[in-house]
Amino acid sequence: MIQAKLKVYRYDPQKDQESHYDTYTVDNLPDFATVLDALIKIREEIDGTLTLRCSCRSAVCGSCAFRVNGHAKLGCKTKLSALAPDGEEICVDPMGNMEVIKDLVTSMDTFWDKLRQVKPWIETDGEPPEREYKVPHSKMVELQQPMNCIMCGACVSDCTVLEVDENFLAPAALAKAYRVVGDPRHAPTKESLINLSQEGGIWDCTRCLECVQVCPKDVAPMDQIIKLRELAIKEGLTGNVGAKHVIHFTKSVSHSGTIDERTLPIKAAGLGWAIKNTGTAIKAILKGKIKPPFPGTHPSVTEVKDIRRIHMELEEKS
Ligand code: SF4
Ligand code: SF4
Repeated sequence: MIQAKLKVYRYDPQKDQESHYDTYTVDNLPDFATVLDALIKIREEIDGTLTLRCSCRSAVCGSCAFRVNGHAKLGCKTKLSALAPDGEEICVDPMGNMEVIKDLVTSMDTFWDKLRQVKPWIETDGEPPEREYKVPHSKMVELQQPMNCIMCGACVSDCTVLEVDENFLAPAALAKAYRVVGDPRHAPTKESLINLSQEGGIWDCTRCLECVQVCPKDVAPMDQIIKLRELAIKEGLTGNVGAKHVIHFTKSVSHSGTIDERTLPIKAAGLGWAIKNTGTAIKAILKGKIKPPFPGTHPSVTEVKDIRRIHMELEEKS
């Protein structure tokens, strides 16, 4: 048997008080107990006012996502012994980027609103086939990854862009968008990609990897976003800053073996944007974040031929 010490976020909108943490020590938990087991024991045996959401306790329903020690996790999939082998204190917060209703329960409205925005359904063209729609097995295997989503909200909770831009469609909805747009039965592919390329869409992800790290079902939402970007470029949707950045970044690397940071912002976002952000560029140069725009300050790559060869091979494979 093990003991667990949990510091739990508390907030009750019906009580006129600020949010705070309560700390609980839970005894006699089985060795395989999870964070959810400990929270349920607190609610049943120590403090009946603790509010949390859970259902299947088997990492299937997606109800019990909380932030555990700063990162979103499914409570039922997170073993106490792995997290705190020496009985260290575990901090449990409600999910981020969502309104807290009470204690560890958050409103999923943001999650569902964003999902609705990407129209998560397949639209076919013309008359239905006489028998079934045939989709290559390899395609369905690939689409299985976004299909594994259990709508737990963990990726939305920890998305670093959503934290600063509430218009961002966020990882779960974008992963679902790939499940639809990547399906050969979906007819308005270009129209969907045009919508997804708007502000707040696929080009606003900063590729911080947080959603990949926290997803309990290996959906890898960021990877699905990258696939949508590739499809958008293939469809010729290259008029936005994000697509231009990718194109000129690739050209720069295949040409000189390195990124030309002097011209990339101008080619991607335009001269006007570059002039407006000169102050930021100077600060970045002074902090050593980017190279100054003078001859000889950029690294020269001697094995450019090899880089070009790798680039060509990758192009042929894609
Ligand atoms: S990789 Fe993109 S979508 Fe995923 S958490 Fe980071 S910014 Fe959000
Ligand atoms: S993509 Fe993963 S983390 Fe995001 S809602 Fe789906 S299962 Fe949860």
